[in-house]
Amino acid sequence: DTAMYAAKRAGRGRYELFTAELDTRARDTELRQAIDDGNLVVLYQPAVDLSTGHVVAVEALVRWRHAERGLLAPSEFIDLAEETGAIVPLGEWVLREACREAARWRDAVPDTDHLRLSVNLSPKQVQQATLVETIRNILRETGFPADRLVLELTETVILEPDAHIVARLESLRDLGISIAVDDFGTGYSALSYLRRLPVDILKIDRSFVTGIADDPQARTVAEAVVRLGMAFRMNVVAEGIETADQARILAAMGCGFGQGFHFCEPVHGSTAAQALRRTFRGVLTDE
Ligand code: C2E
Ligand code: MG
Ligand code: MG
Ligand code: MG
Repeated sequence: DTAMYAAKRAGRGRYELFTAELDTRARDTELRQAIDDGNLVVLYQPAVDLSTGHVVAVEALVRWRHAERGLLAPSEFIDLAEETGAIVPLGEWVLREACREAARWRDAVPDTDHLRLSVNLSPKQVQQATLVETIRNILRETGFPADRLVLELTETVILEPDAHIVARLESLRDLGISIAVDDFGTGYSALSYLRRLPVDILKIDRSFVTGIADDPQARTVAEAVVRLGMAFRMNVVAEGIETADQARILAAMGCGFGQGFHFCEPVHGSTAAQALRRTFRGVLTDE
């Protein structure tokens, strides 16, 4: 996937030009066309148990395979999609595709029953009255088990949740689905929402992980966040682990799980399937 990042860099200059030339509506049309034409692709990033290095989950991360601009990261189109509402069909497509692919791995790869699939949901999706029905249908269609599915929501969704949203999340939970708070710590957290909402997993934002190996204050903050998750009996996942040192420090703090380039970048489905039974390096050693 080095090629992917090179393609992304090479495309940036052209993209800026592109953005200036086309209005939102034209870009929206193009994105919706890409969804219909099958020009989106889902990559998967493993999350590992920090004490064993075993894969416990994979997170689905969307890309847009653009004819002229190469493989585009979400930062190049998710905001637009959120603004225009295209995120609703996009998110539904990602969920269906990821459930279908992960259901296949469960059949094809031995000892993968425990693995979870994590999918990001946008604020707009959570506002849809049809959300629960849509997800129920996708699970039925793909045969992916509800109790292996995790839905990741950012803090902004749940900071001031209205009663409808809370009810929706509770219905999803009743189906057996787990709810994760993504990028935890980056919002204006009035932490009380953690008590009021059906949340199972905290994903600590990468910004709290970055400095922990060299900066004692960063380490103190990270530890407080890990402790907070533990106090609420949530599974705590650290995002953006890039070094063995960071992995070791987080494990020593009691952080159960981790995700990051140190273990594995987001990869195509076929590569992800091969990685599912691997033990990842650098949890306890530097190899
Ligand atoms: P996220 O859900 O917090 O996903 C983690 C992001 O961090 C991913 O970026 C991933 O590639 C990147 N990452 C993982 N490990 C490392 C690391 O060690 N170092 C660094 N520097 N970065 C790391 P990506 O794939 O570009 O996605 C960015 C964001 O776009 C996601 O953040 C998520 O909020 C959003 N997104 C991605 N796919 C979807 C989707 O299907 N639906 C929605 N609504 N949002 C999505
Ligand atoms: Mg996420
Ligand atoms: Mg995140
Ligand atoms: Mg993040």
